[in-house]
Amino acid sequence: MRTKLVAGNWKLNGSREFNRALVDGILQGLDTSPAVEVMVCPPYVYLPETAAQLDGSPVMLGAQDVATEVAGAFTGEVSATMLRDVGCTHAIVGHSERRTLYGDTDVIVATKFAAAQAAGIVPVFCIGETLEERTSGLTMEVVSRQLEAVLDTAGPGAFADAVIAYEPVWAIGTGLTATPDQAQAVHAHVRRIIATADARIGAELQILYGGSVAGANAAELFAMEDIDGGLIGGASLDAAEFLAICAAAGLTN
Ligand code: PEP
Repeated sequence: MRTKLVAGNWKLNGSREFNRALVDGILQGLDTSPAVEVMVCPPYVYLPETAAQLDGSPVMLGAQDVATEVAGAFTGEVSATMLRDVGCTHAIVGHSERRTLYGDTDVIVATKFAAAQAAGIVPVFCIGETLEERTSGLTMEVVSRQLEAVLDTAGPGAFADAVIAYEPVWAIGTGLTATPDQAQAVHAHVRRIIATADARIGAELQILYGGSVAGANAAELFAMEDIDGGLIGGASLDAAEFLAICAAAGLTN
C-alpha cells in the first residue's frame, strides 16, 4: 500500500507574512499523526524560515526547482546541496512552467533530476501533455518520451527515490481537471513503464496528479488505484482548501 502525498506548490506567490500565516494555518489544522505525507514548496527565499516553522512537524519542505550544477559561475541558480543545507527533502523538476517559460528541455530536466538525487534530494518529476497533444491522441507518447529521458540517463533504480507528478498542462491553473479515468489511464501507463524495468520500484512509486485539484474534486481522483496524491498549485495558497485536499487523501482533521 503506497502512502499518499499531498504537496503544495506555491509558485511565485506570497510574502513573508502571507507564507508564515499559511504555514501556521496548515500546521494548526493537521492531524498530529498523519497517515498522509504533506509537503509545502514555497519560493526559494522563504525556505529557511519555513524550515524553522516546520521544525518538529511532519510536514516536509520542497523547492520548486533546482540547478543542474552543484557550484560555480551560475548566477541566479540554487543547487541541490544548498536546498539540502536549508532543510529541503524534495525538489520539483520539470514543472510545465519551467519547461515552457524557461526552456527546461527533457535533457535539462534529466540533469536536474540527477543533481537532486546526488545531493540526497528527492525529485518530484513532472510530466504531462498539452491540450493540443491530448486532442491529437499523443498523450501516452508524450509522457513516455518525458519519462524515458530520465529513465535512460538515471536508470530504473533512480525511481526508488523519486516521485512522479502527472500534470496535464491544460489542467494547470485552468480550473479544468482531468477526469479520474483520464488521470488513472496515464498513471497506470507511467507505472507500467517503470514496472517493466523494475517491478518492485514500479509498484512502490508514488505518482501524484496535478492540475486544478481542489477540496471538491480531490477525493474522486485520490480514490483511483494509481493516483497516490496530488501536486497542488492554486489551492495550496489557502490553508483550509489545502487541508481539505489532505483530508481527501485520508488525513483526519
Ligand atoms: C501546479 O502548478 O503544479 C498545479 C497543479 O497548479 P494548479 O493546482 O493551480 O492547477
